[in-house]
Amino acid sequence: MTRRVPAIAAAPGRASGPVWTFEPSRGSHPDGSGEISVQDAAARAAATLDVLGAHLRAAGRVDEAAILDAQALIATDPALLGAARDLADAGAPQADAVRDAAAGIAGRIAASANPRTAARSSDILDVGDRIARVLDGAAFDGPARPSVVVGRDLPPSAVVEIPAGMILAIALEEGSPTAHVAILARALGIPVVVAASGLLGAVAALGEDGAFAEVDGTEGWIAVGSGAEVGSGRVRATRARPVDAGERAAVRVTGARTGRPDPARSAAAAPSHRGGGTCATADGARIGLYANIGRPQDAAAALAAGAEGIGLFRTESLFLGRASAPSEESQRAAYRRVLATMGDRPVVLRLADLGGDRPVPYLSGQAEVNPGLGVRGIRLARRDRWLHAAQLRAIAQAAADRDVTARVLAPMVATLDDADLFREMCEEAWSAVAAEAAGSAAATMPSSHVPRPPLLGAMVEVPAAALVADQLARRVDYLSVGTNDLTQYALAADRGVAALARLQDALDPAILRLVRMTVEAGAAAGIPVGACGELAGDPEGALVLVGLGVDSLSTEPMSFGRIRAALAAARMSDLRSLAESALRAPSATAVRGLASEVRRAR
Ligand code: PEP
Ligand code: MG
Repeated sequence: MTRRVPAIAAAPGRASGPVWTFEPSRGSHPDGSGEISVQDAAARAAATLDVLGAHLRAAGRVDEAAILDAQALIATDPALLGAARDLADAGAPQADAVRDAAAGIAGRIAASANPRTAARSSDILDVGDRIARVLDGAAFDGPARPSVVVGRDLPPSAVVEIPAGMILAIALEEGSPTAHVAILARALGIPVVVAASGLLGAVAALGEDGAFAEVDGTEGWIAVGSGAEVGSGRVRATRARPVDAGERAAVRVTGARTGRPDPARSAAAAPSHRGGGTCATADGARIGLYANIGRPQDAAAALAAGAEGIGLFRTESLFLGRASAPSEESQRAAYRRVLATMGDRPVVLRLADLGGDRPVPYLSGQAEVNPGLGVRGIRLARRDRWLHAAQLRAIAQAAADRDVTARVLAPMVATLDDADLFREMCEEAWSAVAAEAAGSAAATMPSSHVPRPPLLGAMVEVPAAALVADQLARRVDYLSVGTNDLTQYALAADRGVAALARLQDALDPAILRLVRMTVEAGAAAGIPVGACGELAGDPEGALVLVGLGVDSLSTEPMSFGRIRAALAAARMSDLRSLAESALRAPSATAVRGLASEVRRAR
């Protein structure tokens, strides 16, 4: 008998297929044992790619299957494995050796004048990463066939670790739409439902082997039953394959800067409306529409969707599911890839927001009782400074390689000291890279250009940052409001706890007041303020945010159509009135009602 379990919609789309149940013991288990050789890890990665290709071909997805076939060949390519062995023999940990060897080959190929050849660099990086994960012991024990993944919860790393195409949909008994796993899946076009109370019991009653499920991530339900009842194979359309733009010759050389932002620099940080799709209100007020991405290869889809730039690159995916931190060289390749894809459009790279619900084994510190309030984001810079220091150098290198201005964003800024520390670390990294470029003999990653001075931003996602936004805005070049954490912290409601769903709507007037304070602070200091939390991708949320005065919205590209349509149907004066009413409304539900009325009025 089919059982329909109501749930909360967390990522749109509908898909059905066999059920695969996630249990924490199946999770990533980075042990870095190093017992397996590069050769064996490569063979294992190639075998996985072969199986995956065969599944996709059977599902009629011939183009994707051909990509995986090609990747399987790369995995056992003697040039890649030989270069990796050389690096390992020189003392590099095996996984780093493979990633660095792949980055080296990918870098050379990316410089090819032939765009088809250049585009292969992304495949090489992917394959290097896949082999390295096997070496790290971090390869995810995921489903063996494309499946609907169900579980009580799912770590965000699972979405990164389970090979693309193997997750048809995700249904969780707990969780919330702003949990990181939902955000990542949304970016990958995977339908998700959360808070499906009773789901695991329904699956257990059928036995995992016999269970099929259909998930509707738009309406918010999951149906569980036997294969014949639920039907299988209705797989939603896949996303376009990312293709890198070829590397462009870089020409300018500028000096590294120090000191505080000046007005000219602040103007440079303002959203650019060049290129990309138009996003404007009915009376012509332009709103920057930027993409949130979680992986370097997602930039191509953002570009295809008309993003004016990347408003938030959550770089955590480069760090998750590994026994050791990614090397500077592999990070540099990943950042360069995003910058190359986006050309001269702005790209905001956020420092890795690790800790919290994104733990990694290579940071010091003990497990925390309350990780959400623990050492995460920029706070790590006081304990494991090397992590962000290396990331900043890799960002500076990548920006120098492309001769573009890097935009770096600090997560979890709570105090002015946090912002000052961030600036100090950026200055250190930029000076180091500038010195290397100037020909230091000690350069390990020589860059051909002196990096241009970066633009520094602070996320406003801790309520304290909003409360001191007037002072914060004088220390950085732009502010970006993270409504997900701002809501979690201001309303003291864990993002992942389904029972607190009523406290997790960022349209709560308390949150809107914090956003208003931030916008006013940005205006007074002459710097732009954008919003990059999930509220920016919600049509009602976007209307209110724009009415409150944010300059730009950054969200998953798949939300672009709805956001453009909602804004195009509203006048700026109506949105300002909406925002004023919202600030005085009694509840998030009331604000949603007001915003819906504005949408319906057109
Ligand atoms: C936020 O908190 O709103 C945000 C954009 O950051 P993340 O969701 O990655 O925590
Ligand atoms: Mg956040």
